[in-house]
Amino acid sequence: MNPKPEILIIGGGVIGVAVADALSRAGSAVVLIDRDLPGHGCSYGNAGWVAPCFATPLPRPGLLLKAARWMLDRRSPLRIPLRPDPALVAWLVRFLWNTRQERFVAGTRALVELSQYSLEAFGELASDRRRGLDLQRKGLLQVGLTPKGVTGLVADLRMMEAFGVEGTVLDEEGVREVEPSLTGPVAGGVHFPQEAHLEPLEAVRAFAKRAEDAGAQIIPSTEAIRFRRDGDRITGVLTTRGWIEPATVVLASGVWSRSLAAQVGLSLPLFGGKGYSVTVDRSATALRTPVLVAERKVAITPHSGRVRLAGTLELVKDHETMIAPHRVDAIRKTATDLLGLPEWVSVDEPWRGLRPCTPDGLPVIGRSRRVPNLMVAAGHQMLGLQTAPATARLVTDLVHDHTPSFDPQPFSPERYE
Ligand SMILES: Cc1cc2nc3c(=O)[nH]c(=O)nc-3n(C[C@H](O)[C@H](O)[C@H](O)COP(=O)(O)OP(=O)(O)OC[C@H]3O[C@@H](n4cnc5c(N)ncnc54)[C@H](O)[C@@H]3O)c2cc1C
Repeated sequence: MNPKPEILIIGGGVIGVAVADALSRAGSAVVLIDRDLPGHGCSYGNAGWVAPCFATPLPRPGLLLKAARWMLDRRSPLRIPLRPDPALVAWLVRFLWNTRQERFVAGTRALVELSQYSLEAFGELASDRRRGLDLQRKGLLQVGLTPKGVTGLVADLRMMEAFGVEGTVLDEEGVREVEPSLTGPVAGGVHFPQEAHLEPLEAVRAFAKRAEDAGAQIIPSTEAIRFRRDGDRITGVLTTRGWIEPATVVLASGVWSRSLAAQVGLSLPLFGGKGYSVTVDRSATALRTPVLVAERKVAITPHSGRVRLAGTLELVKDHETMIAPHRVDAIRKTATDLLGLPEWVSVDEPWRGLRPCTPDGLPVIGRSRRVPNLMVAAGHQMLGLQTAPATARLVTDLVHDHTPSFDPQPFSPERYE
């Protein structure tokens, strides 16, 4: 391992490897370390959607009221714990501030831009057969189980149309025409024809491989422990394999970026949005199109060989990784009811991941003002996969002092410094 690289990236989730890929192809000497195997954090078992129609920030008008109503429902899609934790209270106050309509619309605009760029970039990555990435462009169906659920979907569609995302409103019959496998109760939905999905670990591997081909060193089982500083600059990073002395550090450690950033005085208000997935065998259903169940926030995605069921967001600290069986069961039940699967169908591979959640629902991408040789790329909440290529583009522009491809302001770390 090069102990004095130009760039050290801490974290090999989809964000870290996409950044390694973009920077090394732009000519930088990059070392990436991950304390585990790259792609085995939150980037492992997610739904795999690259869907601009889904690119909204988590805080949205009315969400906290809904969360309050869901407090007593153990199977609710969203759980915010009530505990006297000052960091959590501060996070929730900021979150509440960001549920205002104008913040929601501005955040959506910024996220749609990143997602649309990323959809094209994934197309390019997948078109190179050597990368082994199977990008499925089969569109996406959002369904409402009730008329109220459909009304919410249509309101989101109208906002998305203003940002160039196309969709068609469907009644119950229209939903079943697009996806005959949905035999359970539905009231209607919206079909988005342009959206794509992929197997998330394949995406991590494809970026990592292309980065290595461009000269990046990707080192697993190597944990960053602490920083050494001289004035406002980081001069060394102590890892489980010794010191690395990079010119620039990119912090891409998902939800765990919070504690690393705190060491250099940067406050990154990240909480984990714990979500779950399970899989059922592909032979159990003929489903072709990924489906979101609006009221339950459950994503059902056909991959080759299996169908992944994903959902739930429980706000937790970064070490709270226990799998709660009743939450997994709620996801299973929503999906199996909609697909008309028998109760006994085998549901495998229970997985949980901690989405790195900021209180404004936007990732933190950019150079720290306090520590000028620290670049942050973290906090991508529910959208890390589908905004990874755009994040990597922006980080590369900023590292190389090029005109940014996207307005960096909504993502700036300065909003928390
Ligand atoms: C159920 C569920 C479904 C989802 N579905 C989608 C979807 O369909 N589309 C989408 O875009 N997003 C989706 N997401 C969100 C997406 O998974 C995340 O936004 C994304 O994986 C975050 O990537 P990351 O690289 O920031 O974090 P991670 O993937 O968590 O990577 C962080 C990495 O940092 C490493 N690390 C941590 N600390 C250190 C250290 N000290 N030293 C070295 N390495 C360290 C970890 O080992 C880890 O590999 C979903 C999430 C969940 C939970």
